Amino acid sequence: CGIVGYIGKRDVAPLLLEGLQRLEYRGYDSAGLVITGKPAAGKTSATLKMVKAKGRVRDLEARVPKRFAGTTGIAHTRWATHGAPSDENAHPHMDPEGKVAIVHNGIIDNADELRTKLVSDGVVFLSETDTEVVTHLIARSQAPTLEEKVRQAVRTIEGTYGIAVMHADFPDRIVVARNGSPVVLGIGEKEMFVASDVAALVSHTRQVVTLDDGEMATLKADDFRTYTTEGSRTSATPTTVEWEA
Ligand code: GLU
Repeated sequence: CGIVGYIGKRDVAPLLLEGLQRLEYRGYDSAGLVITGKPAAGKTSATLKMVKAKGRVRDLEARVPKRFAGTTGIAHTRWATHGAPSDENAHPHMDPEGKVAIVHNGIIDNADELRTKLVSDGVVFLSETDTEVVTHLIARSQAPTLEEKVRQAVRTIEGTYGIAVMHADFPDRIVVARNGSPVVLGIGEKEMFVASDVAALVSHTRQVVTLDDGEMATLKADDFRTYTTEGSRTSATPTTVEWEA
């Protein structure tokens, strides 16, 4: 139902919770977030830390540990379509190894078929959602870059999606994709935002880029680029959104 994400220098958990609150008006049954920081010294992989809760954003907030440091994260308010509202079915959805985390708005039409195939390959599912098939497609991809992994996954799924993806081995970026479910980038000063609705961005930046269907983007703290699911670059000039505070 609602997506918000951030990459920059600020303490990310409070920013994500504030963004989720701004999306509450759309309705939802559960909420969750995943964050990361810089990899430990000598490591290239980071640790993804996730919290989720059935219920309100304040129920999620109550579960966020006191010390929960990170500068990159994605968050979600869920309106269940596949699987009842529960802690397990709340987004983000991670693979059992904790490498990939995704949040998703929309409905994957061929989820049942993909799930059957993945289960017969030995994949263990942790939820009943359609979304989780995308997690496993990305986690199992042999492609060398996160962009390529996500591109392969979105070319395998059918249906509607706005997705945001984080990967422990690519902690310097968030990759997003859109087909039939809105995704808006918010361009800041050495920080980037993403949301399904400008309402979650406008307190931080008025410079936005709205993705088209079939478009993807990579967000880094000081840079962003957009491209099609086929991989060719698209031009994306930020526009200034008018907003009555
Ligand atoms: N289809 C997904 C689910 O049921 C996403 C629902 C949404 O857009 O919030 O978990």
